[in-house]
Amino acid sequence: MNTCQDLLSAITDPSGREILDPATGEVVGTVHESTTAELDDAVAAARAAQPDWAGLGHAKRSEYLHRAADAVEANAEALAELLSREQGKPVKNGPNAAFEVGGCVGWLRASADFPLEPEVLVDDESGYAEMQYVPLGVVGAIGPWNWPMMITVWQVAASLRMGNTVVVKPSEYTPLSVVGLVHVLNQALPADVLRVVPGGGEVGKALSTHEGVDKIMFTGSTKTGQAIMRAAADGLARLTLELGGNDAGVVLPDVDARAVAGDLFWGAFINTGQTCAALKRLYVHEDVYEEVCEALVEVARQMPMGNGREEQNVLGPLQNKQQYDIVAGLVGDAKKGGGRVLMGGDPVAEQPGYFYPTTIIADLPNDNPLVTQEQFGPALPVIRYSDVDEAVAMANGLDVGLGASVWSSSTDNAMAVAQRLEAGTVWINKHGAVDPRIPFGGIKKSGFGLEFGVEGLKSVAASKVISR
Ligand code: NAD
Repeated sequence: MNTCQDLLSAITDPSGREILDPATGEVVGTVHESTTAELDDAVAAARAAQPDWAGLGHAKRSEYLHRAADAVEANAEALAELLSREQGKPVKNGPNAAFEVGGCVGWLRASADFPLEPEVLVDDESGYAEMQYVPLGVVGAIGPWNWPMMITVWQVAASLRMGNTVVVKPSEYTPLSVVGLVHVLNQALPADVLRVVPGGGEVGKALSTHEGVDKIMFTGSTKTGQAIMRAAADGLARLTLELGGNDAGVVLPDVDARAVAGDLFWGAFINTGQTCAALKRLYVHEDVYEEVCEALVEVARQMPMGNGREEQNVLGPLQNKQQYDIVAGLVGDAKKGGGRVLMGGDPVAEQPGYFYPTTIIADLPNDNPLVTQEQFGPALPVIRYSDVDEAVAMANGLDVGLGASVWSSSTDNAMAVAQRLEAGTVWINKHGAVDPRIPFGGIKKSGFGLEFGVEGLKSVAASKVISR
C-alpha cells in the first residue's frame, strides 16, 4: 500500500507550482500545469481511446470501474491524507477526508452496477420503437475545490460507465487531490480513458471550447457556469451545470429542537460550510426560535476546529484566502446589520491557516447579505418567522435552487411545506444527504442536468431511437 508521500512522489513535478496546506501554510507538493499543447494532446488521446472503450460494452466497463474502486480502497489512507493536507478537511473524524474517499468508492461501484436497458416506447400492431443510450464521445469534467475527489468521481464514473472517455480539469486550488486520485484510478483503467489537465480558469476555458469535447460536466460557481454555457455555444457541447446554491431550511413550530440540532449542525457546517448543498439560511418559527438557537449552539460548541491531522478536530480551515475574505466580509455585514452573534464571528488574528470560527448569527433581516449571498463557509444566519407562508416566500425568494429542507416532528406537515419549496432536492429532517441511487441537480441559477442514478447515466449519453 502506498503512503501519502509515495503518492506525492509519483505525481509531483519539482518544477511545478507549489500548493500550500490551508491549515499551516506548508508546501504540500508541486503541480505541473498543462499547456495548450498538452490539453490538445490529452483530448486527442481520449478521443483515440474512446471507440475501443465504448466497444467493450457495459459489463466489461463495469468490471473496470469495480477494479478502479478496488484501487481507491487499496490507497484510501494515502488519498485521505493528501486530501486533508491540500483541502484542509480533517482526515478521519466526521464527514471529512476518509468519508470523501469512501464516497469515491461507493459512487464508482454504484455507477458500475445501475441497470440500463433500452426503453421500449411502442410495441403494438402499428410498429416497434425503442430508446437506446449511447456514448457521447469525450467528456470534459471541470471541478471545484471543496470536495475535489468525490466530485471528480461523480463526473467521471457515470461518463466512463456510459462508454465515454474523460479529460478532467481540477480546481487550481486542489489539483494534487485530483491528480493523485486519477493516478490511482489509472492503475486499473486502460490507457487514455481518463486524463487530467491541471491548470487555472484558462485551461478550463480551453477545455470547454475544445472542438474535440462533446460534453462538459461542470461543478462550480454560477458565474463560471454562465461563462461556460456562452463559450460552449459554438461547438454545441452538451452541458451539465452543477452550480452554486444558497439552501434554505425551514423549521416548523412542531419541531423537537434537541432531536434535530445535530443534523441541523452538520447540514450547515459540513466541510466547514464549504459545500454546495449545505444549509445556508435557517428560517425558524418564533415559537421555537430561542430553543432551536440554543440547541444548535450547544452542539456547535462541541465541534473542535483545527489542523485536520490532529485527531480531535472535526472541522478544518477554509480552503483559501479568497473564501476566508468572503466569509469575514459577510459576517461583518451581518454584525453591522443588527445580527445577534450567538457564537463565533471573531477570528483569532495572526494564527497560521485560514481558520474562521464556527459562527451562528440570530435576528437578521432577510435582506442582509449573509442571508442573500452564498457564504460557502462556517457562518449560519438564523431568521425568525411567524407564519409558514412567509417562511416559504423567503425560502423561495432567491434566484438559486439547489437544495432545501423542512424540519418537523410530523411527516405530513413537513411534506406539505416540501411541496412548496423551489429546489432540486428537498430533504426532511436532514440536509445535503446525497446518495448514488438518487438523482441530484439544481433548478433556477443552480444549474441543470442530473447526476447519480440511472438519470445520471442518461445525462452523459446520447439518446437514440430505433423504430421499425
Ligand atoms: P469556480 O466557478 O470559481 O471554479 C470551478 C472550476 O471552474 C475551477 O476548476 C476553475 O478553474 C474553472 N474555471 C474558472 N473559470 C473558467 C472558465 N472561464 N471556463 C471554464 N472553467 C473555468 O468555483 P469554485 O470556487 O471552485 O467552487 C465553489 C462554487 O461551486 C460554489 O458556488 C459552490 O456552491 C459550487 N458548487 C456546486 C456544486 C453542485 O453540485 N451544485 C458542488 C460543489 C460546489
